[in-house]
Amino acid sequence: MAAAYEASLEYARSMDQVDTLFPFRERFLFPQHNGEDVVYFCGNSLGLQPKSVEYLMNRELRDWARHGVEGHFRAANPWFSYHHIFSERLAKIVGAKKDEVVAMNTLTVNLHFLMLSFYRPTEKRYKMLMEAGAFPSDQYAVETQVRMHGYDPEDAIIEITPSVGAHTIEDIDIINAIKEAGDSLALVMIGGVNYYTGQFFDLEGITKAAHSVGAYCGFDLAHAVGNIPLNLHDWNVDFACWCSYKYLNSGPGGVGGAFVHERLGNDKTIFRLGGWWGNDEKTRFKMQKGFIPQDGAASWQMSNAPVFNMVAHNASLDLFDKAGMTELRKKSLSLTGYMEYLLRQVSNLSFEIITPTDTTKRGCQLSMLFGPEGRLVFDALTEAGIVADWREPNVIRIAPVPMYNTYEDCYRFYEVLTNLQVSQ
Ligand SMILES: *Cc1c(COP(=O)(O)O)cnc(C)c1O
Repeated sequence: MAAAYEASLEYARSMDQVDTLFPFRERFLFPQHNGEDVVYFCGNSLGLQPKSVEYLMNRELRDWARHGVEGHFRAANPWFSYHHIFSERLAKIVGAKKDEVVAMNTLTVNLHFLMLSFYRPTEKRYKMLMEAGAFPSDQYAVETQVRMHGYDPEDAIIEITPSVGAHTIEDIDIINAIKEAGDSLALVMIGGVNYYTGQFFDLEGITKAAHSVGAYCGFDLAHAVGNIPLNLHDWNVDFACWCSYKYLNSGPGGVGGAFVHERLGNDKTIFRLGGWWGNDEKTRFKMQKGFIPQDGAASWQMSNAPVFNMVAHNASLDLFDKAGMTELRKKSLSLTGYMEYLLRQVSNLSFEIITPTDTTKRGCQLSMLFGPEGRLVFDALTEAGIVADWREPNVIRIAPVPMYNTYEDCYRFYEVLTNLQVSQ
């Protein structure tokens, strides 16, 4: 495939013409720049709005106006069972059984709730292992969980760093560190795709290593969900959580998600914080004493569904269901491959792509590490109607997402880059 790529507008357009997912672009709203759609490469940060959201939001408002409290049962999607409508589609996206997933809360909140169940340190087994350079919210969550149990983060958190001179972490270094920590290790908690480098870790191998020393293993899938096909059930992952506003296009602060393997989700001896929505649905309204968790991941729910926060999620998951993760991944490999090819033709600027070149180790994002002139390049891109993402100190992240980006978008980006005059 790569050998056939060409750095020309004609070539890019010819690729768009044969792209079976091309029509999905029409289902999204693009921000405007000088009266035209921007080239949007920020779906890894905030996905675009599906056009159907407005209609569905209005329908929900109408149901509330019309039915009041009766909307719990009479709304088009009854609010009483609203969270159920996501399970099947989410399960396909993350490779799980329906009862292993639930849409609830937000990401960091879910991470805390799940750690309350799966980080239960003892005098001997109290350590947590994570990648260095994790997303700040995850770092804070891990640090404060450790402190809550009375441990010193310096001692209790093992961070795995890249080798000297490298930007990414070898899976084998994580696995070796897990084995070395042995029975001092309570939990392995890794970001499935690192937000900064775009590196995708070997979730199955890491899970296996964690289990071999008797530790639990969980992943933050914020940058993996909707980006790379996952197989959480078969990989035997213990738990995972994610947000829905990045690749899942479900709007700012959109509802998060969680996965708990059925081995654990159906094990009622595992402690979970209780709330009425996690209780057995048959006795939820009996208003009796004693929390009886229902089966599966849904038992980690606290509250009734934040319906308005879930409308966009519903709209977006429909599009994922129609497109299919296999097809999306197929296009993604080709599209990001094209972007990488184009970036390698750029000779007037100096930067390094720090995302792995091995396509099994990345999703659609590419991270470009610049020198001090990086900020000027970023500002010039913005000026030209390209929405990319700037990360301190010197990284521009771009995500050609297969759901709505095109080969022509990639070419436009390349065209702007090659015409830039930035003094170094
Ligand atoms: C985006 C992201 C978050 C954001 O957390 P919220 O609770 O949704 O604000 C957390 N962790 C990672 C790894 C992320 O990429």
